[in-house]
Amino acid sequence: MKINLAKSAGFCFGVKRAINLAYKTAKTQDNVYILGDIVHNEDVVKEIISAGIKKTGKLTRGKGRTIIIRAHGAPKKTFEKALSLGYNIIDTTCTMVKEIHKIAEEMEDNGYKIIVIGDRDHDEVKGIVGHLRNKALIIDNPGKIPFSKLNKSNRFCVVVQSTQNIENVNKIVGLLRKKIKNLKFFNTICKPTTFKQKEITELPLKNDVMIIIGSKTSANTKRLYEISRSLNRRSYWIQSRSEINPSWFRNAKSVGVTSGASTPDAATDSVIAYLRSIE
Ligand code: SF4
Repeated sequence: MKINLAKSAGFCFGVKRAINLAYKTAKTQDNVYILGDIVHNEDVVKEIISAGIKKTGKLTRGKGRTIIIRAHGAPKKTFEKALSLGYNIIDTTCTMVKEIHKIAEEMEDNGYKIIVIGDRDHDEVKGIVGHLRNKALIIDNPGKIPFSKLNKSNRFCVVVQSTQNIENVNKIVGLLRKKIKNLKFFNTICKPTTFKQKEITELPLKNDVMIIIGSKTSANTKRLYEISRSLNRRSYWIQSRSEINPSWFRNAKSVGVTSGASTPDAATDSVIAYLRSIE
């Protein structure tokens, strides 16, 4: 059985940078906290905690403490509160996410109402809308566009959560254009996601079986799985090699493997080693 590993499998540069910055901070400073999980992956979270970084859900006393802001970013008021409480802030917000904040803020200053295509409950989306003065519209589904809130005379600007599915985004933008005359669209899906999505539209068609590795809490892994499954019914989403069932590979000549942006290489390597052992 041939094993074809996606070139884009594993950590994106934004996650790598955030993890490296967190470790560096843990080595040089005491009382280091992080707001939530550094990435949506249980193994990485465990390693971060064993490096001495404490996870917290809210900001309390900040004096003598450092707080790490994750690659997803955070609302402006989180930064303001951390500063007012005396925290030292280590901001690992990905540069691609910062770019979305910048576009949305500038367009709002220019009089546009902002629409964010993304998952309303995702921290990246909360961070984007939390950088704006006015309430933004959040849309995640072409079937759920709040048309009643779209006044034709207004100017709207669309930005996109960095890990969204481009097909879904294009559908939503197409529908919005029918209703809104003055619509500016910025495709802010990041480059690593675009590359991953391109590969995941090809690999499932070229392989008998697809394995997608990543945590069940990872939105970008979920999207990879959904795309793969729509193209190849023999697609399986696993968190680690222990979940693999050898019967999945019956009569398979090739298996494609990819992993989410928050999946460590160790998990992918271990799956590849296992697949080699059952070849
Ligand atoms: S998925 Fe994209 S935006 Fe998010 S951390 Fe990675 S590179 Fe940055």
